[in-house]
Amino acid sequence: MSTTETREQQAGTQAGTQGGDGPLHGTPASRGAAVGPVVRVPEPLGEPAAGPEVPAERREAEAARIAPAAAEVGARLVALGSRPGLAPDVANVLFATSMMAEDPALLDAATAQVREHGTPPARAVYEAAAGFVAALQAAGGYMAERAGDVADVRDRIVAELLGVPAPGVPPLDGPSVLVARDLAPADTATLEPATALALVTEEGGPTSHTAILARSLGVPAVVGCRGAAGLDEGTLVRVDGTAGTVAVVPADTPVGADLAAAGPSTVAGPVTTTDGHRVAVVANIAEAKDAERAAAVGAEGVGLLRTELTFLSAATEPTPEDQRAGYAATMAPLAGPAGSRVLVTARTLDAGADKPVPFLHMPPEPNPALGVRGQRVFDQDVADRDGVLDRQLAALVGGAADAGVRLKVMAPMIATAGEAARFVARARAAGVEEVGVMIEVPAAVLGARELLAEVDFVSVGTNDLTQYLFAADRQSGALAGLNDPWQPALLRLLDQLCREAAVSATPVGVCGEAAADPDLAVVLVGLGVTSLSASPAALPAVAARIAALDLDTCRGAASTALAAPDADAARAAVRAAAT
Ligand code: PEP
Ligand code: MG
Repeated sequence: MSTTETREQQAGTQAGTQGGDGPLHGTPASRGAAVGPVVRVPEPLGEPAAGPEVPAERREAEAARIAPAAAEVGARLVALGSRPGLAPDVANVLFATSMMAEDPALLDAATAQVREHGTPPARAVYEAAAGFVAALQAAGGYMAERAGDVADVRDRIVAELLGVPAPGVPPLDGPSVLVARDLAPADTATLEPATALALVTEEGGPTSHTAILARSLGVPAVVGCRGAAGLDEGTLVRVDGTAGTVAVVPADTPVGADLAAAGPSTVAGPVTTTDGHRVAVVANIAEAKDAERAAAVGAEGVGLLRTELTFLSAATEPTPEDQRAGYAATMAPLAGPAGSRVLVTARTLDAGADKPVPFLHMPPEPNPALGVRGQRVFDQDVADRDGVLDRQLAALVGGAADAGVRLKVMAPMIATAGEAARFVARARAAGVEEVGVMIEVPAAVLGARELLAEVDFVSVGTNDLTQYLFAADRQSGALAGLNDPWQPALLRLLDQLCREAAVSATPVGVCGEAAADPDLAVVLVGLGVTSLSASPAALPAVAARIAALDLDTCRGAASTALAAPDADAARAAVRAAAT
C-alpha cells in the first residue's frame, strides 16, 4: 500500500465530518493528484436588501462608508494587476477596472442616495451602478462592453460594504485547492499552477471550461463533485483527478502535487506503436505560455490552436498587424531548429455559446449553442462579417511565417460539405496551403463522403460532437454522464468517420478532451485516428500508452469499446484488456 493510500484511508473518518463517510466522488476531469488547503470561490452576489431605511441621524456616517470601500476595492484590483509575470492584457483589464471602482460619478450618485433617501449603502451602490449599466448598454458598441466590468466593480464594492468575500477567485497567498460551484473563464485568467494546485467544482462536466483549464494548467481537477459545497475554507484535502475523488487528509500531510501520481513527464520522440504505426501526439494551446508548455513536454506540434483568447478582452477587432504579431508570439516557442518546421494547426474564431468574442457584438439568441456560432458567424450564406475571417486568415499565415512554423488552418462547427467548401476557398485565397475542418456536428459525419472531398484533413472536436450527438449541454454537471466521450454511440460515430476517411486517405485527428485520456487514446488509434491533440500536460501519459502497444491491440480495444452497452462498461472493459 502506498503512502498516499494510507493517507486517504486515514482521512476517511475526517471526510465523514464533511458530510460523508469517505472521500467525495465526482467526475475525473484532469489527471494527477495534489494536497492543499481549500480556498472557496465565493458565489456571485445577489441583489442587496433595499431596507431597512437608514435613520436620518445615521445617514451621513453610512454615506461616508462608500468612498473608502470603493478605494479598498480599487487598491486590491491594482495589487492584483501589478503581480509580476501577469499577461499585459490581463493586467490592463484589472487596472481599467480599478479606475471604475473610484469613478466619482458612481460614488456621488450612491452617496446622495443614502443621504437623501436613507437607502442602505450596499443597495445605494447597487442602484447607482444599475443606472450606469443601463446607460452603457443603451450606448451600444464599445460602451456596452464595459457594462459587465461595472457590474463586477459594483459587486466588489457591495461585498466590501457588507463585509462578505468579493466574488470571483480570491488572490491566492500560497498553494491552494480551489473549490467552487463552477468557474467562469474570466475567473480563472490569473491562475497559476504554483498556487492553484487543484480545482474542484460542484457543477460542470468533463468538457467544461474548468476541466479544460485544469488540463491546460496541468493541475488535477474533479468536476460535478456534489458534496464539495460542504468543504470548509482551510480544510486540507487530497484531490485525485484521475480517480475523481476529494478526501480530507490529516493536517500534517505535506502540501503540494503528488508526483508519484503524475506519471511520465515528456513525450519520448515521434510516437509509434510497438509495430511502427505512426501516431502524431500534438498539443492544444491558446497562448504563448501553453506553447512553452507544449515545447517543454516534447509535443510534436500543435493540433489545436484556439484563437479566441487573443480576442477575449478586445472591445474592437484587433488590427491585422496586432493579430499577426499575437499569433507569431503564440507560435514562436514551438519553432524548431532551422529547416524543421513544426506543425501548428490553428482554428479560426469559434465565437458564440461558451466562447464570447465581445467585438463581434453577436445578437442574443434563445439557444446560442444551436445558433449562429463557430464558422456560421462568417459563412457567406448566413452572416458574413465584413472581412473579419479573411483578416484573421491572413494574420495566421503571416504570424506562422514570422514564427517559422508550418501552418494548417481549420474551421469550427462545420455541418455540411457546402460550408466546408466555402471555408476552404477563403482559406486558400488567404494563402493557407493545408485546410481542414472540425467535425463537431453529427451531420458532418453522416455527410462525410461529400465533406471529405473538400478538405485536406479533419479534426474531431469530441467535446462539441458529444454535446450535439446527445443533445446535452457540455457545461451541465447533471448531464456529465451523457457527455462522457466513452459513450459507445459517440465511438460508433467516430468509427463511421474513420471508415469514410480511410477510403479517401484523409487524416483524422481528435482534438477534443477525449484524446487526453490514455485508455481512450488507445481506442481512437484502433479506430483509425491519425493524430491525438490534448493539453500539453496530458501528452506524456498518452504517448507512453500508445508506444507500449501494437496496432492490433489498439484495434482490439476499439472493437471492445464499440461493442460495449454503455460508457462505464466500455471504459472498464478497455482498462481491463489493455493494462
Ligand atoms: C471540441 O469541441 O471538442 C473542441 C476541441 O473545441 P472546443 O472545446 O474549443 O469547443
Ligand atoms: Mg468545439
